[in-house]
Amino acid sequence: MNDTYDVVVIGGGPAGLNGALMLARSRRSVLVIDAGEPRNAPAAQVHGLFAHDGASPAQLLARGRAEVESYGGHIATGSVVGVEPGFTVTLADGRRVGARRLLVTTGLVDVLPEIAGLRERWGRDAVHCPYCHGWEVRDRAIGVLATSPMAIHQVMLFRQLSDDVVLFTHTTGLPSEEQALELRALGVRVVPGEVEALEIADDRITGVRLKDGTVVPRDAVAIATRLVARTSFLEPLGLKAVEHPMGVGEHIPAQPDGQTEVPGVWVAGNATDLMAQVGSSAAAGAMAGARINADLIAEETRQAVLEAAA
Ligand SMILES: Cc1cc2nc3c(=O)[nH]c(=O)nc-3n(C[C@H](O)[C@H](O)[C@H](O)COP(=O)(O)OP(=O)(O)OC[C@H]3O[C@@H](n4cnc5c(N)ncnc54)[C@H](O)[C@@H]3O)c2cc1C
Repeated sequence: MNDTYDVVVIGGGPAGLNGALMLARSRRSVLVIDAGEPRNAPAAQVHGLFAHDGASPAQLLARGRAEVESYGGHIATGSVVGVEPGFTVTLADGRRVGARRLLVTTGLVDVLPEIAGLRERWGRDAVHCPYCHGWEVRDRAIGVLATSPMAIHQVMLFRQLSDDVVLFTHTTGLPSEEQALELRALGVRVVPGEVEALEIADDRITGVRLKDGTVVPRDAVAIATRLVARTSFLEPLGLKAVEHPMGVGEHIPAQPDGQTEVPGVWVAGNATDLMAQVGSSAAAGAMAGARINADLIAEETRQAVLEAAA
């Protein structure tokens, strides 16, 4: 680690590594600081990603890190705990590093509801995204555990993949009359009542247990988590995650190129776009990296003009 860099990228997932790749290839000094806990770590494979469908998340990131390093970018393992204006970045182990610009790509935390067994099955047969894991649970007995009105939308998406979908109303109310009509027409059974636990046997889900003890046999469950950006260390800069307009969690608002309301700070991937997948996170990181390079060029050109006139 040098004392200072053109750009410090906080978070080395798809968004951060693609941003760092653009910057390193533009001959910018760049450091990626990464805590090593990508959001999709519980999943064995990445799906829906052009030319890499089925790759393991760890393999993909190892390749991305090697690409950044091959152009002179630096990668440090560690967790950022503070950022001071200017910018000085502090890691949990006390290391400090300076940066002219920051690219924040720390992703989000999936806040899981308190349902016994859910955490251990998360990313395996307890899933959230039909595009990531839907194919893998196709034609299976799927239960959608409702945590918000968006659950009806999730039911429709999983119904595209299996004829056997049950909606557990869990902590939400019953569907509206119109929704109930649609669900009936699609053959989706609605099970009222709060879910207590997933039944698990031989390392797989076998059913969903309600608080009243009823068990509904299921092979897989789908659930929408609350999505919360991992960005509390930005608060000293005046940047705080706010409620997302869709009511699905908290994010850092930004321009389409990742620029935040704090000059010099960009954000990309799940930290700002809670719905982004691996491909769109990487694309947003690349865009932010290019814009940061252009911003530095503009600053350096202004300085060169001043020096030439002196
Ligand atoms: C179970 C599961 C499976 C998924 N499967 C797929 C799939 O098949 N296909 C797909 O396209 N999408 C999938 N996704 C979505 C995918 O995980 C995200 O789109 C993607 O990880 C977002 O990339 P990112 O770079 O924004 O964040 P992340 O990949 O989460 O990377 C952020 C990085 O920042 C680090 N970090 C966090 N805080 C700090 C800090 N303070 N200091 C330093 N580093 C920090 C983290 O440790 C992490 O390494 C899945 C999600 C889940 C939950």
